[in-house]
This record gives sequence, C-alpha cells and structure tokens, in this order.
Amino acid sequence: MKRGLAAQFTLAIAVVVLIAIGLISIMSNVLINKEFEKYASEQREMQSQKIVSNLDWQYDSVTGEWDTSYVHGVGMSALYDGYVIRVKDSAGDVVWDAENHDMSLCGRIMDEISERMDKIRPNLHGGFVTMEYDLTQSGAIIGTVDIQAYGPYFFSENDSRFMTALNAVLLVIGLLSLAFSFACGRLLARRISRPIIKAAHIATQVSEGNFSIRFNGKTRVRELAELVAAVNNMAESLDRQESLRRQLTTDVSHELRTPLSAVSTHLEMMIDGVWEPTKERLQSCFDEIGRITGLVEEIEKLGQIEADNLSLDKSPTDLLELAGAAFHAFESEGAKKGIAMDVSGESSIVPADRDRMRQVLANLLSNAIKYTPQNGQVRITVEDTPQSGVLVIEDSGIGIHAEDIPLIFERFYRTDKSRNRGTGGAGIGLTIAKSIVEAHGGSIEVESKPGKGSRFVVILGKA
Ligand code: ADP
Repeated sequence: MKRGLAAQFTLAIAVVVLIAIGLISIMSNVLINKEFEKYASEQREMQSQKIVSNLDWQYDSVTGEWDTSYVHGVGMSALYDGYVIRVKDSAGDVVWDAENHDMSLCGRIMDEISERMDKIRPNLHGGFVTMEYDLTQSGAIIGTVDIQAYGPYFFSENDSRFMTALNAVLLVIGLLSLAFSFACGRLLARRISRPIIKAAHIATQVSEGNFSIRFNGKTRVRELAELVAAVNNMAESLDRQESLRRQLTTDVSHELRTPLSAVSTHLEMMIDGVWEPTKERLQSCFDEIGRITGLVEEIEKLGQIEADNLSLDKSPTDLLELAGAAFHAFESEGAKKGIAMDVSGESSIVPADRDRMRQVLANLLSNAIKYTPQNGQVRITVEDTPQSGVLVIEDSGIGIHAEDIPLIFERFYRTDKSRNRGTGGAGIGLTIAKSIVEAHGGSIEVESKPGKGSRFVVILGKA
C-alpha cells in the first residue's frame, strides 16, 4: 500500500523525534541517577561523620561521665534520619542504644527505609549494615559507636520526592516535545505535500486534455516553486500547441476549400455546357490548383523539417553571394509592386547548407515584399564579424505589433486573422526559416514597428 506524502513525513519526523527524546531521557536519567546515588552515598558517610563528631563532645574526660541526655538527643535525631546507633564506652559497656531505647520506633523507621528503597531501587538488594567508628577526644579513644544504616546508599523521604518530581518533569517535557514535533511535522508535511498533490492533479487534468488549467497557489519552497512553474509551462505550451493544431485544421480546410470549390464550380459549369471552356477559365482553374499544391508543398516541407531533425549538408558559403542570388530571384516580384530593392554589405563566409539557407532568404524576402505596400523599400545587408555572419532583411512595410512578435515564428501563425487570401500564406514560412537557422546553431530575431517596417536579423556562427 502506498502511503501519502503527508503521512510519510509526519511519521518520519515523529520517529526521529521519538528516538531523540528516548536517547535524551535515557542519558539524562542514567546520568542524574548516577550522580544522585553518588550524592546519597556521600551523604551517608557525611552523616555518620557528623554523628561521630557530635558524640565526641558528650564525654567529660575529667569526671569520666557521658552526658546521656545529649547522647540521647544525638541518637534520636540520627534515628529519625535513618541511622540506628549504639554508643559504647572504652570498656565496651553500652552508654546508649537506640534499639534498647525504642525498639518499635527503630523497627518502624528501618522498615520504612527498606520498603522505600525496595520500591525505588528493586535491583539494589541493599540492607542495613553496621559500621563501627572510634570516638576520640584529643587523640585518646573514649569509646566507640556502631552506626547501622541502609547500604550501599539510601534515599530520605525528601530525596525520593525530589527524584519522583524530576522524573515527572522529564516525562512531561518528553511528551510535550513529542506532541509539538508531531504538530510541526504535520504542518510542514502539509505545506510540502499540498502543492505536490495539486501539481499531480493538474498534470492529470492536462493529460486528460484540460489544457486551460493552471496552478494559482503560492509556495515558499524553491524546488516546489520550480515544479509549479514547470507544470504551468507544460500546460501553457500544450495549450498553445493545441490551439495551433486546432487552427491548423481550420486553416488547412479553409485554405483548401475555397480554391477547391472554385475549381469544382468552374469545371461543373464547363461540363454542363453553361460556360465555354475558354483559355482564361482553364487558366484560372490551373492557378487555383497551383495555390493548393503550393500550400500542400509547404505543409509537407514543414513536416519533413520537423520529422528528420533537419540533416544539414554544410559547406563554406558566402552570405553576400546568397543574398545576391535571392535578390535577383525576387527583383521582378518587387518591381511589380514598385518596391525599391537593394543588396549591400561585405562578404562573409560561414559553414552553411546552401539550399536550406536559400530557402530562409526566400521566405524572408517574399514576406518583406508581401507585407510592404506599393513603392516601398526592401534592403538586404550582409555584415561580417570575427565570430559570425549577419544577414539583415529590412522593409518599410506594415510592420508587426509587439504582441505578435513572439508568435510569428509559430506554426500557422498569421497576424492577419481575417485570412485575406490576397496577402499572406499559411503562416509556415517563418517557422521553416527559424527551424533551419536554429539547426545551423544560429539565431533569427525581429524588430518591428507597425506602419514603419520590419527588420529580420539572421546570425550564423563561423565555428
Ligand atoms: P505567411 O505565409 O503568412 O507569410 P510566415 O510564417 O512567413 O507566414 O509569417 C507569419 C506572419 O508574420 C505573417 O502572417 C505576417 O503577419 C507576419 N510577418 C512576417 N514577415 C513580415 C514582414 N516582413 N512584415 C510584416 N509582417 C510580417
């Protein structure tokens, strides 16, 4: 089963946090407990020393008497702290014994401590042990004290309360950070997964043919922003391709239907004997068929160029010479419209496929003449630079609107949407020119102002 991105993220983050919290609490618990045990056993030793030094003062060496009421005080306070003492004089006779004094109290306190330690440290297996200390005064031994205490260490009631509180705090911190990380993980995961899910949805929609869909949301993650942009670009370019394709079908059928129906009407009239098959009428049919053939040829050419990735047959070619030849080929067409044409510049030799480049020049020049009104001007210039050869075809024609400029190289794009059959072809000429120039590794660009004219610049590298 495949898990969702958000669930996957949340789970991964939660597991990492859980491991981190587990490690931290184990480490801190071990460290704190160790330190606390050390403290408890030091405390036990210190308490014993305190009892000993307190007892040292309760013997009067002059009279040889013990101040039993003080000894009693020390003994009782030690008992309440968990230390059961028995004081003996230097002869070994008992001066004061906690167990003799209050057997049941001693038992109760000892039981309490054993019980508490069994509960807190079940693995310690400790028990009450007796240690004997000498009681001294100015270096002379005046007696001994047996101190019975739970070993190797024990926790007082306060100590154990402190430990419980500390463990509770650690647990609460752990739980809180787990909950917090879970919430953060979910938030982060959603933030990341939402655009991905949306992008996937859009891609599916696009694959089902809904090209107008776009991703409108915003994301602050750079990679996701790139994904979103890529999805939008894909949808946009498919949308454009689709509308071009649709336009192609309409264009091709429109372009073909008009001359075809003209030809068929003419032929029908002549077959029916309504019209005389005069030379002019036959010529008109022939011209229409020529237009259809021309269009089909152009479509074929484009198909070929796009299909075979354009294999070029390059040889050193002088662009000025090519420009001259193109000029001669179109001179008479220009002259018919009273267009002044000229070619100038310097010789520039670049590696190029002559036939293909001739095609480029023919397309650009025929456009220049087609879109330049009577008595205009068309100029071809060749420039030579150390790295490249530059062909410039300028006209003083109708120009192109700025919004059309990025589109005129697209297949079947014509600025003249009304499809005036008098001007313009199928909108393929520039597409072919661009494919050829780009296959040479060159570039083709256009600058144009409506009403002023256009300037097409083709740059071919020398390397
Ligand atoms: P077409 O066969 O329609 O000329 P092209 O691909 O050669 O197709 O050109 C595409 C469109 O670009 C043309 O329909 C025209 O509107 C515009 N165009 C091309 N060259 C020129 C030019 N020199 N001056 C003005 N418009 C031009």
